[in-house]
This record gives sequence, structure tokens and C-alpha cells, in this order.
Amino acid sequence: MTSLENQIILITGASSGIGTACARIFAGAGAKLILAARRLERLQQLADTLVKEFGIEIHLLQLDVRDRNAVEEAISTLPSAWSDIDILINNAGLSRGLDKLHEGSFQDWEDMIDTNVKGLLYVSRYVVPGMVSRDRGHVVNLGSIAGHQTYPGGNVYCATKAAVTAISEGLKQDLLGTRVRVTSVDPGMVETEFSNVRFHGDTERANKVYQGVKSLTADDVADVIFFCVTRSPHVNINEVVLMPVDQA
Ligand code: NDP
Repeated sequence: MTSLENQIILITGASSGIGTACARIFAGAGAKLILAARRLERLQQLADTLVKEFGIEIHLLQLDVRDRNAVEEAISTLPSAWSDIDILINNAGLSRGLDKLHEGSFQDWEDMIDTNVKGLLYVSRYVVPGMVSRDRGHVVNLGSIAGHQTYPGGNVYCATKAAVTAISEGLKQDLLGTRVRVTSVDPGMVETEFSNVRFHGDTERANKVYQGVKSLTADDVADVIFFCVTRSPHVNINEVVLMPVDQA
């Protein structure tokens, strides 16, 4: 088993949902956390709580992963004590709308593609070289069951998550011969702020999504990620699909 004590873990999208749950479980294992998202005040509140509870070190990054220059700047100017990232959790992501393609919003498409695909690529592009040069590291990408099954109105979101699956597999191939691991964690329905963001803050519509299904919790997903990153260094879990029992 790999210990997370003092390992430097960068979590994108740490201000909510699965990212916050990952921060909590890694904090409990003594990791050093770099928490990234756009909402700095949420990150600060989370950091205050985790430092108090676990006494760990935390570095905050206010970062929009869609902005390639900002990603480069954020990673390249990390203080030296934080620059050797051991584990990257590419979690920032979102869904917008549930529209038929011929009625879809261009802005929604761009939000999804720029965040879920290009943002994940940018962060990986600037973090993975350090892992390669140190010959150790682990990249965990948040895919989705949506990358495997396309549902009505899910056209563009499902395409972004299918892209994440392909990128994870491609990166795994690229890194053969190094000791850098790559894992795709692909959950079914998880109750977070995700649906609220999807429907642009229409909470009534968002809450309906979870009716009749006992969804996964963010902690369920963080548990699986924790399992993947704590295996022995020679073990790579390529992909995990985790579903609520009653989701098809
Ligand atoms: P949340 O909406 O709760 O969290 C999403 C996180 O992503 C927030 O912290 C948000 O932070 C961050 N984020 C969004 N856009 C950007 C951006 N441009 N730059 C930086 N950070 C950004 O959703 P979840 O926790 O549920 O989702 C996490 C991941 O899990 C996503 O990739 C999602 O696609 C995936 N997933 C979710 C499922 C679900 O049912 N909930 C199912 C399968 C996969 P901020 O707004 O502060 O920037």
C-alpha cells in the first residue's frame, strides 16, 4: 500500500462535491493539498476546516482551468515546496443543459468542452512533465458513466466524458516505461451541486434528477479514488465504473 503522508496532491474543482470529499479523505491521511477552483472563498473555508481538523499543509490556487495561460502560470509559479506534485486529481468539470443537439446552446457546449476536455488537458500538460522527470506520480481523471452510455439530451456532455476516457487511456500508453500511473474514475449519478450547475441554478429541476434513485455520495467516489491511489506502486487501476445500485 502507498502511504499518502506528505504526498503533494493537486485537486482541481476542490470547492465542491467530489473534489471537496477528496480533499477531506486525503487530509485525513496526512497529504499536503493544493486545492484549485475559481471560488477562492469556498477553498479558503475548506482549507480552514481541514487545517484545524487534521493539521495538514494546504496551498490554494484560484484557477479557471479553461484559461491555458493561467494554468501554465499557476503550475510554473508554485513555491518550490509545492512544485513536486505526486498526485493530480483532474476533477473540475460540469454539465450544462439537457438539450437536443439541434436546439443546443453554443455557450453551454463551449463551457463543457473547454472545462471537461481542454481544461483537463491543460492541467495535465503542465503537471505530468514533472512526474515524468521524477519517474513517479499518479493522474486520476474524473470520467463518468456518461462516457460509456449516451442518454437523451446528453450529447455534448457524454462526448466530453468519452473524450476523458480516451485521454486517460492515451496518457496511460504515453507513460508506459515510467512509474507514473493513470486512472479513470467513472461514476454514475452523484448528488452534488452538479445538477444545479447543469440547470443554471434551477434547483427545482435539479432536485428532480435525484428523485427515485439513491445516488452515490461524493464520499463514495472519494473512497474509490483513495483506494486507487493507495495501491502498491506497481499496481495501476486503469478504470473504475461505480454506479448507484438502482441506476441502469
Ligand atoms: P460540483 O458541481 O459539485 O463540482 C464541480 C467542481 O468543478 C467545482 O469545485 C467547480 O469549482 C469546479 N469547476 C467547474 N468549472 C471550473 C473551471 N472552469 N475551472 C476550475 N474549476 C472548475 O460537481 P461534482 O463534484 O459532481 O463533479 C466533479 C466531477 O465529477 C466533474 O468532472 C463531473 O463531470 C464528474 N462527475 C459527476 C457526476 C455527478 O453525477 N455529480 C457523475 C459522474 C462524473 P468552481 O465553480 O469554484 O470553479
